[in-house]
Amino acid sequence: MNYANKQDRKRNSENKVTNNLMDKLVSLCKRRGFIFQSSEIYGGLEATYDYGPLGVELKNNVKQIWWRDIVTSRADVVGMDAAIFMNPKVWEASGHVVEFHDPLVDCRNCKARYRADHIDLDKPCLRCGIKDWTDQRQFNLMLKTHYGPSEDSSSVIYLRPETAQGIFVNFVNAQTTARMKLPFGIAQIGKAFRNEITTGNFLFRTREFEQMELEYFVHPQESSIWLDYWVQSRFDWYKNLGITPEKLRLRQHKDDELAHYAADCYDVEYEFPFGWSELEGIADRGTYDLDQHIKSSGKKMTWFDPKSNKHITPAVVESSAGVDRTVLTILVDAYHEEEVRGEKRVVLRLHPKLAPITVAVFPLVNRDGMPEIAEKIFDDLRSHFAAFNDTGGSIGRRYRRQDEAGTPYGITVDSQTLEDQTVTVRDRDSMEQERVGVDKLEVFLSDKLK
Ligand code: ATP
Repeated sequence: MNYANKQDRKRNSENKVTNNLMDKLVSLCKRRGFIFQSSEIYGGLEATYDYGPLGVELKNNVKQIWWRDIVTSRADVVGMDAAIFMNPKVWEASGHVVEFHDPLVDCRNCKARYRADHIDLDKPCLRCGIKDWTDQRQFNLMLKTHYGPSEDSSSVIYLRPETAQGIFVNFVNAQTTARMKLPFGIAQIGKAFRNEITTGNFLFRTREFEQMELEYFVHPQESSIWLDYWVQSRFDWYKNLGITPEKLRLRQHKDDELAHYAADCYDVEYEFPFGWSELEGIADRGTYDLDQHIKSSGKKMTWFDPKSNKHITPAVVESSAGVDRTVLTILVDAYHEEEVRGEKRVVLRLHPKLAPITVAVFPLVNRDGMPEIAEKIFDDLRSHFAAFNDTGGSIGRRYRRQDEAGTPYGITVDSQTLEDQTVTVRDRDSMEQERVGVDKLEVFLSDKLK
């Protein structure tokens, strides 16, 4: 945990201005099938969301790009997928049982509960306007459940609050089976759970979320070099997703924010409508994690260094990113409103590699054989691209729906198609249309997506 960005966060939670953009985004996400409130028909569950048909595609695209960039395109990183349930001793060794807490404070008057480091305790309660705070106390963020058919204290188990420990405890298994030499990384994507005191800002802070984590094991003397490398590389990764560079920044942790074992740490931050906030943390964790597991398990978790002829405990540089925060960032950054011929147009300017639908196919009208041609084009394209065939409603309405879905290209079959086998391809952002031969569509789109 880090308590980075305290000032920004204070400002954020004090900012009572209705967050217009966030409200509009939540509504678009529901309208277009990106994100729904969880168990909505029963009134929902606070700060829990379900990804709909378009949302799951966007989220999968984020995860696939991360996996390709971090794992499959590199010779020095392997992947894994650890179970969510782990032996509770893991969380004792990692320090989570004792250390993984946030400071909690209550308003005695209205009983509102806050994370003490997110508000200004010199000021009155944001809800009732009265200043009558309880003392701060520490609240452990790990969610517990019972494992197996008995419900006594011996069956208590935790839902993992991070995926990283699944990597550390498998360090030897992964290193020996994949025959990796330092420096090398182990990466995984998976769900994590935290009983956050306060949630909010849509997907930003929820109790169930997904992480993309890389633990990069290095010679202890080389950790600061690798930290620099990963900080830059991870910062560039967000820019390559098409996120506005001016809204991204790196922030180095001050000494008093660093976890006691971390030598150095940077956050990648984005300027959300509610202020600058963390997307990812990149930290030099030294040998702390492996040392802790060596001490607690009594197992050998070192690496034999052929150069020095010695067993060494590698240091680790961690990159820990949130899938859902990345999805939120992409959506916030892509949301645009503009006026076109006196009408409001809402458009998600998603990078084509992220868009849930790459190309939509429309017959101009539902007659004269146009739907059949559109269907055939759709069938031909769908094995190469994420394609969608839309025949419902006026063409203007269909364009607007796809603009809101962030679909970069729209193909329209019109009366000219019947004569010369060409269609129009509309660019989502410029709204310009060009005529392309039906037989050239695959190459045309592939070139655009390069
Ligand atoms: P914060 O300071 O915002 O509570 P943190 O510093 O505790 O975050 P880490 O433990 O570094 O977060 O977790 C790594 C990443 O996991 C975060 O950068 C974020 O993207 C994601 N993450 C952490 N907590 C949550 C949450 N409650 N909801 C959504 N994503 C989260």
